[in-house]
Amino acid sequence: MTRSSRQLWHFHGGLKLESNKAISTQSPIVKARLPKRLILPVQQHIGEAGALLVKKGDKVLKGQAITQSTEYVSAPVHASSSGTVIDIDEYPAPHPSGLNTLCVVIETDGEDKWTELQPTHYINTKSPAELRQLIRKAGIVGLGGAAFPTAVKVNPGPQAHIETLIINGAECEPYISCDDMLMREYATELISGCGIIQYMVSATHCLITVEDNKPEAIKAIQAVINEQALHTIEVVSIPTIYPTGGEKQLIKVLTQKEVPSDGFPSDIGLLVQNVGTAVAVHKAIVLGEPLISRIVTVTGEGVKQPQNMEVLIGTSMSELIEQSGGYHDDACKLIMGGPMMGFTLQTDHLPVIKGCNCLLVENTPEETPATMPCIRCGACASVCPAQLLPQQLFWMASSKNFELVQDYHLFDCIECGCCAQVCPSQIPLVQYYRFAKTEIWSQERDRIKSDHARVRHDFRQARLELEKKERAEKLRKKKELLEKKKIAEAAAKNDTPETEIDPKKAAIEAAMKRVQDKKAAKQNNNTSSDE
Ligand code: SF4
Ligand code: SF4
Repeated sequence: MTRSSRQLWHFHGGLKLESNKAISTQSPIVKARLPKRLILPVQQHIGEAGALLVKKGDKVLKGQAITQSTEYVSAPVHASSSGTVIDIDEYPAPHPSGLNTLCVVIETDGEDKWTELQPTHYINTKSPAELRQLIRKAGIVGLGGAAFPTAVKVNPGPQAHIETLIINGAECEPYISCDDMLMREYATELISGCGIIQYMVSATHCLITVEDNKPEAIKAIQAVINEQALHTIEVVSIPTIYPTGGEKQLIKVLTQKEVPSDGFPSDIGLLVQNVGTAVAVHKAIVLGEPLISRIVTVTGEGVKQPQNMEVLIGTSMSELIEQSGGYHDDACKLIMGGPMMGFTLQTDHLPVIKGCNCLLVENTPEETPATMPCIRCGACASVCPAQLLPQQLFWMASSKNFELVQDYHLFDCIECGCCAQVCPSQIPLVQYYRFAKTEIWSQERDRIKSDHARVRHDFRQARLELEKKERAEKLRKKKELLEKKKIAEAAAKNDTPETEIDPKKAAIEAAMKRVQDKKAAKQNNNTSSDE
């Protein structure tokens, strides 16, 4: 194994955890069976959902877009196999909220027939903007779990100068091994994807970072680098410490640089992408294939045959469990993601989405630990990789002081769970941070809504005011016109030039004349009735 001679640094805190990865890396990646039904949530990414392109009854081909992005931060969804759209409705989806979401349901026809693909044979004939457009159309999102649209991330703006592309193969959470297996088996595709991204952002170097507990992956990548005699791509073996895979922590380890609290890696000349995302970029550009599948680790002591599977997006999790030998009798908890940052699912009748890297089945009955008061031991702060003050965040979040908690950089918390792991009082600290973040987002949404309502109200008031003024102006003009007419009539009658007529006097005279005319008319009426 080649160990990089590159100097490395440490990030603050972190933990050495039992990796428990070997149970799922004993056999090659298995292709999951084509399911009879695919449930595809239209929103599987950070940002806005795309607009539907299909309706119930439509026939679709594998790789055909079923939604279209209308917003910049968005990603389309594609049919993962050929078949018929049998429903478009709200279905349960894997999300911590447990809420239903709009899904397109496809009954597969068993043919698995691709739509026409448009591979790019010569990357250099395309501009970075054209490649970004292809990545956007392919619906690629960050496959490390964040699911942020990749086309947006690889467009850091004209001001940014990306010197180094970092490809994240750290995969630091226990049990998860999909990236490890992908690096072992798709090293050529990975290197191809790295080259494409490197070209798109004009990065001088590309560092593929892999934790030193994945020697096979490092070996496979190094072999491709040697074979292709690549000089600008390097595989870097880094120490296995949780959470090295965090973007900011990885940057610290590789460069000693700190990403500003409210900034981005591009602010310091860096771009970080996950290994799975790089392979998806290769497939989208070189083969013309959109993102319709991913590698999922099915693992844990509660499942009979832990393994890694290549799965079509939209496949039911229950089918993956069944194809992994089923549950052990003592299986008691299903988690999407790892034990540190994942979330519990109430059912396995949920579709695999783009951000689903692992299904972890635990067999240890959940014990609710007795939570004790904080003893201010400071253990949480000493392990926090974001260098926060977790106990302060906890007090502020639990007392709902949502303004102050933000001053203590709540949003720099990556929810790694290190603090909760070491807390002797067993306080579920991360739950408090998630609660505070959700509340702040909800208040922010309400504030934006009320701002919009206020703007609408102000606009309406201004419109009414304007209409009122216009009406008054119209009335004034009409009156003026009438007066001018009367003056003209009076002038004609008295043979006096209009300019010599006093408008007030003329108005009084006109009024008196009207009264006299009325009187005369009345007298005439009386006389005729006497007769
Ligand atoms: S580790 Fe737990 S008990 Fe210790 S200071 Fe942090 S929150 Fe308090
Ligand atoms: S969960 Fe947040 S506060 Fe706790 S250690 Fe991780 S980053 Fe720090």
